[in-house]
Amino acid sequence: MGEMTNLFRAQKAYFRTGQTHALRFRIQSLCTLQKAIKQFEPQIMDALHADLQKSQTESYISEIGFSYDEIRFVKNHLHKWMKPKRVPTSWLHFWSTSKIVPEPLGSVLIIGPWNYPFQLIISPLIGAIAAGNCAILKPSECAPHTSHVLKTLITETFDSDYIAVCEGGVEQTQALLAQPFDHLFFTGGTTIGKIVMKAAAEHLTPVTLELGGKSPCIVHKDAPIQLSATRIAWGKYMNAGQTCIAPDYILIHESIKEPFIQALKSATTRFWGTDPLTNPAYGKIINQRHFERLKTYLDQGTLRIGGTFNGQSLAPTVIDEVPDDAPVMQDEIFGPILPIRTYTQLDEAVQFIQNRPKPLALYCFSKQKEVLEAILAQTSSGGVCLNDTLVHISNPHLPFGGVGQSGMGAYHGFKSFEIFTHYKSVLRKTLLFDLPLRYPPYTQKKLGLFKRLMP
Ligand code: NAD
Repeated sequence: MGEMTNLFRAQKAYFRTGQTHALRFRIQSLCTLQKAIKQFEPQIMDALHADLQKSQTESYISEIGFSYDEIRFVKNHLHKWMKPKRVPTSWLHFWSTSKIVPEPLGSVLIIGPWNYPFQLIISPLIGAIAAGNCAILKPSECAPHTSHVLKTLITETFDSDYIAVCEGGVEQTQALLAQPFDHLFFTGGTTIGKIVMKAAAEHLTPVTLELGGKSPCIVHKDAPIQLSATRIAWGKYMNAGQTCIAPDYILIHESIKEPFIQALKSATTRFWGTDPLTNPAYGKIINQRHFERLKTYLDQGTLRIGGTFNGQSLAPTVIDEVPDDAPVMQDEIFGPILPIRTYTQLDEAVQFIQNRPKPLALYCFSKQKEVLEAILAQTSSGGVCLNDTLVHISNPHLPFGGVGQSGMGAYHGFKSFEIFTHYKSVLRKTLLFDLPLRYPPYTQKKLGLFKRLMP
């Protein structure tokens, strides 16, 4: 895989020219990227449809428009973020000034998953460009159409010494991971996340791991049933449930379970009709392997909604009375199957969450501030969205990332800049005079003085 080594070295050499450092260059590159995405919009939409049967609206909201928003936000703030920050210096070091200087890291590797195969490569790339880095992008081989479009878009837009796409699977990714990158940004599953972190350790390369997990959704007894079900159905079944922050399972107060299931049924019918499998706007499962995996979950509880499938599509499904040790309650589902589990006291729901790995997202529906505050105080998760699903990801003022098993490091907005930046501490001393107090020989008198100055 000498090809990867050559590419990596070429990027290192380009980075050393210093061209990527200037504000003007970074802004220009972001504008160029924005224009290229605009120009490739039809191809991107076609590719997302071929890979995941995403409708144009869903592709626009969650992948293309999302990227424009991110570029706009970063462009508007970059000038401020790049400014060195003056900080105080102790008078013991008189006469000095101190500042923190943000500097680019160098060449970074961005590895993406297949579920939002465009946005999850472009969004970290925006951060890498903004911070003045070169980047190699490795899209997922499981979404080959989007991977090819990304390759064409980037190759036609940027010099590969600056930004390049390497397509491929495990072998190509491992060849890339063997290079001493200055940062690794990985989005994918926890298992591969561990492989990436081990490879990074060889070169002491810092990592950002955007992983997955089972994101719980609590529906308390006072939650408005129709509205909660509508918002949950939207978040769960978008992209046929293949969303890292989709509500994975419901924890619901037993008194409202039945009306809630009815409300979910009516929401899915409003969204996709009585037979979503024949609706072209409803997504498909990425590949046969995941489709077969999802089908094994169907009989692990009582089927309440859906459960039908066709080709590689699986209808919006709800299952009830699922044992806690069933695989569907153990694995990240990552598909349109929603298990429902009841509780009688809110504490039971809290304990259920506390006894499991920290999730990427957590949802809670309730009209009572005390309930929402109690959930916030007693649980830990990458992010939280109260009384809605998914939308917290689209606020660039909110860092997005996991905690514990769901990942490390966060991005979006300023955080995307910060992740790919080194904050260099700089102290500058005057040459006009020198205070000899700190130099040997160390007499008792000097020690006494220091003790008074540094009590
Ligand atoms: P994955 O971990 O299987 O693959 C991700 C990337 O790793 C791909 O580019 C793949 O080529 C590469 N890869 C696979 N095996 C590898 C190996 N042995 N060595 C090196 N690289 C390897 O993930 P996926 O199936 O594409 O995506 C689904 C997972 O991603 C889910 O767990 C989901 O929750 C998670 N996810 C997280 C976020 C987030 O923002 N936190 C977003 C989307 C998806």
